[in-house]
Amino acid sequence: MYKIIETKDYEPLSVLFHDNGLEVKICKEIPDTALKLWKCEDENGDLIAACQLGKRRGYFVLESLAVDPAYRGDGLGGKLLRLAEKEAFLRGAKEIWLVAKVPEYYKRFAWKTVPSAEAPDISKCQHCAQFEETCHPAIMKKYLYSCIHCGVGNCDHMDKKYPDFCLTKHMDPFLKEEAIALYDNEENRDIMVAAAQIEYEYYCKMTRVEETVEFCRRMHYNKIGIATCVGLLHEANIFARILRNHGLEVTGIACKAGTVAKHEVGIPVECEAIGENMCNPILQAKKLNAEHTDFNVVIGLCVGHDSLFYKYSQAPVTTLLTKDRVLGHNPVAALYLSKSYYNKIMESD
Ligand code: SF4
Ligand code: SF4
Repeated sequence: MYKIIETKDYEPLSVLFHDNGLEVKICKEIPDTALKLWKCEDENGDLIAACQLGKRRGYFVLESLAVDPAYRGDGLGGKLLRLAEKEAFLRGAKEIWLVAKVPEYYKRFAWKTVPSAEAPDISKCQHCAQFEETCHPAIMKKYLYSCIHCGVGNCDHMDKKYPDFCLTKHMDPFLKEEAIALYDNEENRDIMVAAAQIEYEYYCKMTRVEETVEFCRRMHYNKIGIATCVGLLHEANIFARILRNHGLEVTGIACKAGTVAKHEVGIPVECEAIGENMCNPILQAKKLNAEHTDFNVVIGLCVGHDSLFYKYSQAPVTTLLTKDRVLGHNPVAALYLSKSYYNKIMESD
């Protein structure tokens, strides 16, 4: 067991950084550039890892990160790295920099090497006589912004400018190639083609129920499985009638089928106060798998239960109804109201 805490006691950290080969002088005073320091101690209170986030010439920099060799491989460095990245983000950083002697380590966390000619002045290394002569540390950057921070969506119509952090601009070509190659799979290609054709032909003309029926028809699905919440049997029944009216065979299973008490799978017994039996999404998936359904439709499975259903369903899955007990199964209403009547949703814990 270990714990990670913020610290202002710099000297032991400087020793750890120094002893692990970083260009750090052992001293008591926290460097002027440092913004925040974290230390990680084992159960005896011994220092086993540390991390320093700093700011140099306006750039957020991961200045030092070291893990005692005896504790490497346990994900400790990654945890400290994420703490520093999160702190930089909360302080307004769009990107964070570092200079790495072992760039492969940081590549695992989506850091990219930047040619030194394109890098800002963020490290002593860049002023060292040995830099890129006998010593070759990599200058690396990670964008902390992603598509969710994008205000232009230029990857859609390509009529504006890509933002500097754009995922299209910085896409890993191997990752992209790997994804594109998967559309050679016959089922994947057929699904993509059918979905695209429906979007094109019925854009803003069909409801999702109608689109689902049309998708089944184009995919030549015959047998449809419905994995429903027991509280939405009425809706599942109506949907099944619609599917049958379009010539499809339908079977369904409710979340409580099998009646297993919650405590039997380790759910705390107090959760039985709102219902003794657990939802059983794995059983729902297994039952529909056993029935060899061609396509499964989720109706209102709870958050997490739906995840398990998706995980264990052998047939492709779509969601017709996303349960929201408060908002009439329209969860996005919470987002629309987040700047007005329901702004409490933006508060942190
Ligand atoms: S470039 Fe110079 S300061 Fe940087 S690691 Fe190499 S020798 Fe040390
Ligand atoms: S890929 Fe680029 S342009 Fe598209 S949403 Fe992401 S950041 Fe924006």
